[in-house]
Formats: sequence, C-alpha cells, structure tokens
Amino acid sequence: MSTDIADVVIVGSGPAGYTAAIYTARAQLSPILYEGSVTAGGALMNTTEVENFPGFKEGIMGPDLMDQMRNQALRFGTKIITDDIVSMDLKAEIKTLTDGSGTTVKAKSVILAMGSAYKEIGLPNEKRLSGRGVSWCATCDGFFFRDQSIAVVGGGDSAMEEANFLTRFASKVTVIHRRDSLRASKIMAERALANPKIEFLWDSEVIDVLGSEKVSGLKIRNLKSNEESVKDFTGLFVAIGHLPRSELVTGQIELDDEGYVKVEGRSTKTNLKGVFACGDLVDHTYRQAITAAGSGCQAALDAERFLQHS
Ligand code: NAP
Repeated sequence: MSTDIADVVIVGSGPAGYTAAIYTARAQLSPILYEGSVTAGGALMNTTEVENFPGFKEGIMGPDLMDQMRNQALRFGTKIITDDIVSMDLKAEIKTLTDGSGTTVKAKSVILAMGSAYKEIGLPNEKRLSGRGVSWCATCDGFFFRDQSIAVVGGGDSAMEEANFLTRFASKVTVIHRRDSLRASKIMAERALANPKIEFLWDSEVIDVLGSEKVSGLKIRNLKSNEESVKDFTGLFVAIGHLPRSELVTGQIELDDEGYVKVEGRSTKTNLKGVFACGDLVDHTYRQAITAAGSGCQAALDAERFLQHS
C-alpha cells in the first residue's frame, strides 16, 4: 500500500470519467483514473457511429471517440490504471480505495463515474443462453448472425441503433416492443421504420427464450390480446436501457429509489464530503455522451474547489 495521498481519484472511464481527468490534470491535481479491467471506455465502446457529439461533423465511431478522450487525459498527465476498484471507504476524510489486484490507494477526493450497465429482461433462460444467442451488444456480436433471423427487444434509441446495425449481417431483424409507438428520437425511429430488413412486433413482450445449447426461438405474448406464440429466431439482442452501476457505494452514499447517486442541486456533490458523482451514475434523464462529458467537467471543478478550501 502506498503512503501517498492523491488529490483526486476518478473511478470510471466513460466520457464523464475522462473529462473529469482532463480537467483535474490540467488543474495540476495529478489525477489517478481507474478505467476498469474489461470495461474501459464505458458504454460508447459498444456503440457504432456517434453522429451527435459536437465537433465531429461527419460523425465518429464510439471507440475512436473514447480513445481520443483517453489520450487527451494522458496528455495532461493523468495516471490511468487498467483495473477495477473493488471496494471503497468514502466516509473518512481520507478516502481509501482498493483495486482488483489488492492495491490500496488513498485520496483527498473521489470522483465517481462508474456509468451504467445493461438492463436484463429478467428471464431465467435469457441468462442461461447469454453468449449463446442472447446478447446486449450488436457491435460485439452482430457478426455471428450473418444471414440469420434475429430479434431486438426495446423501443428506445439503443434498440433502433442495434436493429439498424444488425441489418448489415442478419437476413431479417424483428424489433419486439411492448407498446405501439417508439420512445426513440425521431431520426433514429424513422431510419429503422424505413429499413426494409426491419420488422416490428408491437404490443409484445418476450416471455421465454427457447433453445437448449443455442437460441432457437422466442415465446412472445401479445399484451393486448394476451395471445402467446412461438417464433423462430437464432439471436436475441436486449436493448431496454441501463441501470446505474452504484453497487460499490450502496450503503455508504445516498442513492435514490432507482439506485442513482444523489447529488446536491445542480452540483456533483454527494452527501459525503470530498466525494463527487457524474455521468450516467447520476443521470435519469439525458444520458448522452455530451451530457456525461459536461457533468465530468462539473465534477472536476467541484473537486478542485473542494481541495482549495480543505
Ligand atoms: P430508453 O430510452 O430508456 O429505452 C428503453 C426501451 O426499452 C423503451 O422503449 C422501454 O419501453 C423498453 N423497456 C424497458 N424495460 C423493458 C422491459 N423490462 N421489457 C421490455 N422492454 C423494456 O433506453 P435506451 O434506448 O438505452 O436509451 C438511453 C439513453 O441513451 C436515451 O437518452 C437515448 O437517447 C440515448 N441514446 C442515444 C443514442 C444516439 O443518439 N445515438 C443511442 C443510444 C442511446 P417503453 O418505451 O415502454 O418504456
């Protein structure tokens, strides 16, 4: 264990974490950022083209955007550690964090930017067949479904993006949505509705995933007629939103009913002194790369002011 006490440790490496690192590094606070052992870069690593991040007129691939942010954080002296934080003690004045290799780091302030995780439908066979036809990431797994008929569950931007992307490989993509209209933004919805390879199954929910070794079909219920049917699919992509990754701080920091970290007003201050939270971990509403980056900047400025006055 090092006896040094860092000014700031950042946990998480999406747009929020990297932006917090860029700002705190430029403020000469020598930030240490834990980027995660397998999830470095956050949700955008599983995205295709990002068309709405300002500054990239022609769009940019999600992983490229994260790579640029990471390099920008490094350029100003951020120490990036490719490991997970597995426990944190945030209540004391000096915070203690332990990583996956058992190394402990101490810090005067901590910026939490753990983001969110994919939501599951919650079916036992969804878990059992995960990686065997059930996936949460079209860019990771789409390639394996060449010329196959597959389903996407959800009606938001993620589902439309996944469905559109999957038509590059699949012969047909069926979007199964529990209502009769989409939540997705107009441009994404229109693109999917106009795609001849995408079909929509409205007012429907998946009630079971079928197959012994691999997905062979889905049991579907029509929520209006209550009628149940079985349809053949070799893949199921679940795109029904995300849950905040707050499990590491549950019990020591104030969370709301849905598990998001609570912050004070428009700031990033949590109920614990010297602990700040940003990005999808605190955001019910906007959840965009640009808003996450903005809140990472706020967390850095809040931490900087806190350190000036402590
Ligand atoms: P979302 O907007 O919350 O949409 C989730 C969808 O899944 C909704 O249609 C919801 O149905 C459905 N759903 C939720 N729980 C379900 C369940 N248990 N069973 C079946 N269906 C369920 O989530 P998202 O699509 O991941 O988007 C999150 C945020 O990221 C949004 O702000 C979005 O704009 C943003 N995003 C942007 C882009 C982009 O601009 N390129 C791409 C991806 C995501 P209901 O509609 O009935 O609630």
